[in-house]
Amino acid sequence: MDEQSKRASGWIYPGLRIGEALEVAEQEGGLVLICNRCGHVYGPVSRDPKQGAVYREVPLAEVNPLNALSPRDDMVCRQYFCPGCAVMISTNVHRRGDPHLPDMELAPPEANESSSAAG
Ligand SMILES: [Zn+2]
Repeated sequence: MDEQSKRASGWIYPGLRIGEALEVAEQEGGLVLICNRCGHVYGPVSRDPKQGAVYREVPLAEVNPLNALSPRDDMVCRQYFCPGCAVMISTNVHRRGDPHLPDMELAPPEANESSSAAG
């Protein structure tokens, strides 16, 4: 399958860029998500990249001073960064202590191959 066909079919393939800082790469053992700036490996494409990132929680007023007017003081902005080069890959607003919410969990290409082979 050529590059254009892969893109048209929606397959996940090496070189596929996801957002500003993530890219699919091929490594021994399968496809992984990497930082497109420093090459840090976040993990397999089937796993949310935040699990391979570092994060910090900051008060909402640090993100925007207008948030200081909010009556809620239990909310934080969780910022996720590449451990290799510190590029920010995601942010979420949570209650302090809430579990991490996945941004994406991509289906491995094997699943796509079997479903498209029938059609
Ligand atoms: Zn990086």
